[in-house]
Amino acid sequence: MMIIKRPLESVVVIDRQGDMGVFDTMNDAIESAHIAQKEYSKYNISKREEIIESFKNELRNHIEELSMMTYNETGMGRYEDKILKNKLALDKTPGVEDLNIIDSEGNNNGSFYELAPFGVIGAIAPSTNPTETIINNSISMLASGNTVVFSPHPGAKKVSSYTVQLINSAIIKAGGPKNLVVTIKEPSTNNTNIMLKHEKVIMICATGGQNIVKIALSSGKKTIGAGAGNPPVIVDETADIEKAAKDIIDGCSFDNNLPCIAEKEIIVINKVANDLKKHMSKNLALEIKDKEILKRLERLLITKNGTLNKKYVGKNADYIMNSVGVKIDSNIKVIFVEVDKNHLFAQKELMMPILPLIRVLNIDEAIKVAVELEHGNKHTAIMHSRSSENLNKFTQAIDTTIFVKNAPSYAGIGYGTKCTSTFTIAGPTGEGLTTAKTFARKKKCVYADSIAN
Ligand code: NAD
Repeated sequence: MMIIKRPLESVVVIDRQGDMGVFDTMNDAIESAHIAQKEYSKYNISKREEIIESFKNELRNHIEELSMMTYNETGMGRYEDKILKNKLALDKTPGVEDLNIIDSEGNNNGSFYELAPFGVIGAIAPSTNPTETIINNSISMLASGNTVVFSPHPGAKKVSSYTVQLINSAIIKAGGPKNLVVTIKEPSTNNTNIMLKHEKVIMICATGGQNIVKIALSSGKKTIGAGAGNPPVIVDETADIEKAAKDIIDGCSFDNNLPCIAEKEIIVINKVANDLKKHMSKNLALEIKDKEILKRLERLLITKNGTLNKKYVGKNADYIMNSVGVKIDSNIKVIFVEVDKNHLFAQKELMMPILPLIRVLNIDEAIKVAVELEHGNKHTAIMHSRSSENLNKFTQAIDTTIFVKNAPSYAGIGYGTKCTSTFTIAGPTGEGLTTAKTFARKKKCVYADSIAN
C-alpha cells in the first residue's frame, strides 16, 4: 500500500508544478500562469526584453528540429518551408519595441497613455502553424507583460509541448520566472472550453478556423479572433505576366498552401489567361484538363457532406495526384484547374497545392468574383497589375486586412520584405496584424498641472 501511495502523491506534486510549463490539467496550467504573471508584472520593459531574447536565442538552435517534428507529427506541409516560417516568427515578430508611452493629445498637455498587460491570455493555436504561432504569440504577449496559456491543436500536441518547454527552460536559465508560457499535455475541446470559461483568463486569442473563432467570441471575454482566409489573386491585362506566374506559384506552394494568407484561387482576365498558364507551367505547375481526372479529384478532396477531406490538407501535389491514379513528377509544386467561380475548389479554403483558375472578361468582373470568394473573411487578397486605378479599385472593394501588390502572398507576413511578421491575423475582430500592442491595455495618466482652473 505504501508503495502505491508515494507515487500517487508525487504525481499530484508534479502536476501542480508542471514539466517546464507543460501541465496535466488546464486548471493547474492557468493557476501557474496566473502566479507567474504577478511576478512578471514587476518586470520593466528592458527586463522583459531580456526574457524574450533569452528564449529567442535558444529557439534559434532548434529551428530545424521543431520544423521536422511538426512535419512528422502533423504530416502536413514542407519541412524546408517550415524552417523559413519558424525563422520568420523568431526574427520578425516585433517585441517590446512595439510598445511606447503614447502622449495622449500632443506634447506637454499633462497626460500620457501607458500600455499595461491584461494578465493571463488564453491562446488557441492551429495545426497548420503550431510552433510559429506559439513563438509569435509568446513574443507579442510577453512583450506587453502578460503570461500565456496555450491550447494547441491535438494533432500537434508533442511539438507544441516541446516548444513551450524550450521557452520555459531558456527563461529560467536567464533567471526569469517559471510558467510565463504554459500548456497542457493533452489538448482537447474540453480543455479549451475550461480555458474559455476560467475566471483567471482575462483575454482570449483564437487563431484557427471560423468555428473556433465563433466559439471564442462567445466566451464573454475580450477576444482576438484570427480566422480562416480564402485569398483570391487577381491578374489583370496590365500585369507583368511572367513575374505574376512565378509569384503565384511561389506563394501558393509555400508549405503546400497551409498558410492562411496563401493564394487559394486565381481570377485572371481572359486576354492574358493563356499566357499566365504558360508561365505557371514553366514554374513547376501542372494543369489538369481531363474532366474525368478532375471529377476524381473532386471526389477525393471534398466529402459527400461537402466538407474538406482533411487527409489531403498540406500534402504534396504528386501525393494527391497519385491518390487519383495519376503519376506526376515529384518536383511539381502546384496543380491548377480551370473552373467557374461556383466550383467547390474555389469556394472552399483547400489548404492544398490545388489552385483553381477562373477566367473573367474584365476587371469589374474579376473584382466581383474575388470579393465573393473571399467570403467577407477580411483576411488577404493579392493582385498583379501595373494599373494603380485597378489596384485601388480592388483594395477598396475587398477591404482585406492584408493586400499584397505584385508579390507572392507571403510578402504580407514579412517574408522577403522589410515588414514585420505575425502568425495571428485578426480579421474578424479587426486588430489586424497582431503585435505586442494588441495585447496591451491602454491606460491614461493625467498630471495635476493639466487640470484647468
Ligand atoms: P482548426 O480551426 O481546426 O483548429 C484551430 C484550433 O482550434 C486548434 O487548437 C483546435 O484544437 C481548436 N478547435 C477547433 N475546433 C474546436 C472546438 N469545437 N472546440 C474547441 N477547440 C477547437 O484549424 P486548423 O486546421 O488547425 O488551422 C487551419 C485554419 O486556421 C484555417 O482555416 C486557417 O485559415 C486558419 N488560420 C488563421 C490564421 C490567422 O491568423 N487568421 C492563422 C493560421 C491559421
